[in-house]
Amino acid sequence: MTPPRANRYRDHWAGELRAEQIGEQPRVAGWVHRRRDHGGLIFIDLRDRSGLLQLVFRPEEAAEAHAAAGRLRAEDVISATGELVRREEGTVNPNLPTGEVELAVSGFDLLADAETPPFQIDEDEPVGEELRLRYRYLDLRRERMRDVMVLRHDVVKTIRDHLSERDFLEIETPILTRSTPEGARDFLVPSRLIRGSWYALPQSPQLFKQLLMVGGIERYFQIPRCFRDEDFRADRQPEFTQLDLEMSFVDEDDVFDLIDPLLQRVLALGGIEVELPLEQVSYDEAILRYGSDRPDRRLGVEIHDLTEVFRESGFKVFRGAVDAGGVVRALRARGDFPRSRIDKLEEKAKSLGAKGLAWAVVEDGGWRSPIAKFLSDDEVARATAAVEAREGDVILFAADRADVAAKVLGGLRSDVAEGEPSGHDIFWVVDFPMFEWSEGEGRWDALHHPFTSPSGDLDADPGTWRSRGYDVVLDGWELGGGSIRINRPDVQQKVFSALGIEPEEAEERFGFLLEALTYGAPPHGGIAFGIDRIVALLAGRDSIRDAIAFPKAASGADPLTGAPSPVDERQLRELGIKVDAPPGS
Ligand code: ASP
Repeated sequence: MTPPRANRYRDHWAGELRAEQIGEQPRVAGWVHRRRDHGGLIFIDLRDRSGLLQLVFRPEEAAEAHAAAGRLRAEDVISATGELVRREEGTVNPNLPTGEVELAVSGFDLLADAETPPFQIDEDEPVGEELRLRYRYLDLRRERMRDVMVLRHDVVKTIRDHLSERDFLEIETPILTRSTPEGARDFLVPSRLIRGSWYALPQSPQLFKQLLMVGGIERYFQIPRCFRDEDFRADRQPEFTQLDLEMSFVDEDDVFDLIDPLLQRVLALGGIEVELPLEQVSYDEAILRYGSDRPDRRLGVEIHDLTEVFRESGFKVFRGAVDAGGVVRALRARGDFPRSRIDKLEEKAKSLGAKGLAWAVVEDGGWRSPIAKFLSDDEVARATAAVEAREGDVILFAADRADVAAKVLGGLRSDVAEGEPSGHDIFWVVDFPMFEWSEGEGRWDALHHPFTSPSGDLDADPGTWRSRGYDVVLDGWELGGGSIRINRPDVQQKVFSALGIEPEEAEERFGFLLEALTYGAPPHGGIAFGIDRIVALLAGRDSIRDAIAFPKAASGADPLTGAPSPVDERQLRELGIKVDAPPGS
């Protein structure tokens, strides 16, 4: 760290004093990390953001300071000075950067008292999350939180540097706005001045960044907060931070060319090395081989398509699926698969939408399987060869609609993989379909969002349209995604129509964008990345909450401030709002 400006509290960072400064009289400030009394001597580890420094209080040299130090308690705040001395032989601590030295304190000031903290700051023992969040300011004092905050800063700074070096302008967009189209539920803010009207908090700056392109900004980025009111899912936050960017007069390759080296720089901060250019995998290939558009390819196990093998099969289940336009696909697994394990896999397959889970164990060149009797030797031999199975392997089948088979087998990959994945795997997924059919709603949904440029024959069935979207996947996580956008109002309306959004509704919800597109919108495209997720991954943390200074608990509440909380009757009256649910319901 840059040396602090000398003032009455300190002139050095405690964690940065070294043997070269022995004999100097530094002044340091911070928290009492730990105190030990040793046969007349008192040792205190003093902690500031830079690290730890051992202070020693000797009764014979500084009687007053020694006596006062005896009353110091963990987390008291002090400023101390004295001579920096070499530690006695045998007491050097090689694990501490300041481990060769200690400060022989001649005097100190107690700047603030501390109550006994609800958990220990000086130990990395696990503490319940509710308690950590309730006292987040204490949790932040712990090394593991400080380190992640430093890393987060470095990630954001690297992004700002990379983009600023390439002429991107950092521009803020509104927090109080209209509903944005990322497909989640909006957080609403009532307007007092225009009663009965509501702002929505942005789910992303999508429309504003497109308007910035219409505005001739050419290259924009922002590290915005986004808000999505979604139901509880383990690692979701109602507000989260993105890197959001957009650029004009570009194709996909321009975006990849910008992002590849940016990701390389950012991932290097977590010691992850990646080779450029990042590999590109088509959506269809990802689904076919891994059953997911954000697969963890490190698991190794791949899906094999056996539709052709069973096209004429005498086994009704397989034949029926193929005749109905579906597929037969399989996973080949190695390892021990007792009946109980197969039963568990079947249960999971069913929860993923399968009707059942056919399986076979390769034994004596043939199959031990409840379905073996329905199959010809030729089918068995061809399927065994196609999945490259050897003696003792298990083959798990899905015979269904292609999307169901992908989901089921993709979902089982992690259950049958051998060992834990190691290393890292990062790649682009490209060439998405424009829409996916929503069974529940009985209509098309955009796979990215409705402003993504479609490709293909737009007069053909929307199910055949492709999109100019792209995602980045790291170790099975979607790090980010974006697209080349629509820049013509007629195409935009066509996409709305395919989504069942008729012109009046489009006008009402997105009229301002459609209008902007009539005033000369350049071709443009962009992308957004989830910063919290990237930081958590780089820091090796399981939860994004660990990458956020003041996150919400899993319930969506903030144990520190008590938000969300009821408000005064008067505030509600001013807003013209009546609440009919009692608090807490
Ligand atoms: N707005 C999109 C999102 O938040 C990203 C993009 O298309 O740039 O996911």
